[in-house]
Amino acid sequence: MPTKVKCLASLEDGKRDLRPDDVEIKILYCGICHTDIHHVRGNWGADGYGYPVVPGHEIIGKVFRVGTEVSKFMVGDSVGVGCMVDSCQTCPTCNNDREQYCDFTTFTYGSLDRRDGSRNYGGYSEMIIVTEKFVLSIPENLDLAAAAPLLCAGITTYSPLRRWGVHPGSKVGVVGLGGLGHMALKLAKAMGADVTLFSRSQGKAEDANRLGADQFLISSDPEAMKAAAGQFDLIIDTVPYKHDVNPYVMALVPEGSLVLVGYVGPLEPPVNVAPVVLRSQNLAGSLIGGIKETQEMLDFCGHHKIMSDIKVIDAQELNSAYESLLKGDVMQRFVIDITTL
Ligand code: NAP
Ligand code: ZN
Ligand code: ZN
Repeated sequence: MPTKVKCLASLEDGKRDLRPDDVEIKILYCGICHTDIHHVRGNWGADGYGYPVVPGHEIIGKVFRVGTEVSKFMVGDSVGVGCMVDSCQTCPTCNNDREQYCDFTTFTYGSLDRRDGSRNYGGYSEMIIVTEKFVLSIPENLDLAAAAPLLCAGITTYSPLRRWGVHPGSKVGVVGLGGLGHMALKLAKAMGADVTLFSRSQGKAEDANRLGADQFLISSDPEAMKAAAGQFDLIIDTVPYKHDVNPYVMALVPEGSLVLVGYVGPLEPPVNVAPVVLRSQNLAGSLIGGIKETQEMLDFCGHHKIMSDIKVIDAQELNSAYESLLKGDVMQRFVIDITTL
């Protein structure tokens, strides 16, 4: 696995000439998302142009240069980049601020540039060039390193919390206390919800408590899961690998929603849809969020002073960080200090 991970040490690697609507960013920090691991290990299938992969889509840096038509940013601004760097900007989904569903989205890495077909590289790198519309402003009161994970873990959990209308008094469940899970917990609490954390073992109970969880349940305990039946308006499931979602369906209230954001693939065991039909429940998924919503999430985090719990690491510690994430024993986000590349 580690042989496929690459960091860009040279400013010249993976760099194109600046287009009029381009912003060039000197990267300071990049969070490590479990999606980086899926790409590096080929969990979602090799796509023919994805390797070598330079992962990283939780990017924070300073504007270094701007193209001739750029109006929103100036050299020196603190900015962020998430999972997308361009899209067609003319189709119905782009016009509806849902660029993540555009047929021509250029994702931040492992993707081909939609304009010139060149392979693109992510944020484990010193510089990146991004279309202006996909560059986000970072609220001044947020610590730059701790804001990096908001660019993916933040928006991926904020978007379904908003879409399903979480409000004071909502009962929200979060499955898995990792990068996405701890952001879901913080954001749902800031929206006024009563939040329960489902984790595989007792080991993260104290952390869940410290992060503000109202209840902590061990998902591997059938009795605890039975006792949770029929309680939750919304459950966000962040588990990255195949697992049984039936207990979470049973934990929903009538018309409640289970939103999968982690695992991509066939579920095993199969989902019994009897409770879904008989109790008018929703089994749903969610993919990051559009650029407008991502800026809204950053402003919300600025307003509520919400940041990720992070461990800043040197680039040399990358492989051991990946090993920890694979064990699932981390409840915060690793963030690479890019000056150590
Ligand atoms: P993470 O930090 O590694 O956290 C995942 C958590 O899932 C773990 O901490 C663990 O929590 C739980 N878990 C349960 N079974 C596990 C297993 N077999 N191996 C490892 N962890 C297990 O991951 P993340 O960065 O939050 O990402 C979670 C998933 O979301 C990944 O699959 C990622 O690709 C995906 N993702 C999706 C989107 C989207 O737009 N939909 C965006 C970003 C990421 P407990 O120990 O508490 O059980
Ligand atoms: Zn991610
Ligand atoms: Zn489009």
